[in-house]
Amino acid sequence: MTTLDVFQFPYMSDNYGVLLHNKDTSETAMIDAGDASAALSALKQRGWSLTHLLLTHHHADHIAGMHEIKSKTNCKIYGPEGIDGVDEVVGGGDRFDFAGNEVQVLHTPGHTMDMLNFYLPDQSLAFTGDTLFTLGCGRLFEGDAATMWNSLSKLISLPSDTWIYGSHEYTQANAKFALSVDPNNKLLQQRAEQIDTLRADNKPTVPSKLSDELKTNPFLRPDDADIRALLNMQDATDEAVFAEIRKRKDNF
Ligand SMILES: [Zn+2]
Repeated sequence: MTTLDVFQFPYMSDNYGVLLHNKDTSETAMIDAGDASAALSALKQRGWSLTHLLLTHHHADHIAGMHEIKSKTNCKIYGPEGIDGVDEVVGGGDRFDFAGNEVQVLHTPGHTMDMLNFYLPDQSLAFTGDTLFTLGCGRLFEGDAATMWNSLSKLISLPSDTWIYGSHEYTQANAKFALSVDPNNKLLQQRAEQIDTLRADNKPTVPSKLSDELKTNPFLRPDDADIRALLNMQDATDEAVFAEIRKRKDNF
């Protein structure tokens, strides 16, 4: 199996796009297409030709460039139902091949109801859209907290050495909030410092390892005794604690 080359590039104010390239087959995939010119210049910079475009959800900052990118590259577009121009509609539980790698489609509604995440088990890569971010999770625009908690639980169950590629650089704000609900978590304190250092150098904090998220991302930790004590929710369900954490973040 060929290890894919991964190239992450920023676009708009805080989005990330990602290119995956197999140098043996010359195939290239991109996750999301919010900005055609940023995507096309990333492809040009690497000298890669786009063959596969994987869309996570219908928000404009993830799809606005898809038609221009399609017309310039003739890539095949995979995405959820309801987006005009998708060549192959996929949904939770589907699998397809990218350059000899199985791509598993996870349906993770909550931020939007159409949200798909793409997991490449052979490469330990997961593209989590606006569901899971470094130290954060997406806002609940279309789904409720129970729906989002169920979606995050699917990601929690991936192998802990999986690299999590969320779609946004929200990490510094996420770290501040995380410390407000989990102030005595030493690993979180250390991560927050590392994140400040990276951002001071304008370096990305994406991707992150799932194992680090499991220890420091409060949205994945509603079972944590210290967080529960701080929220005074010792006997609540994980789903109820998650809902409270999400509500606090919305008002933070
Ligand atoms: Zn979104």
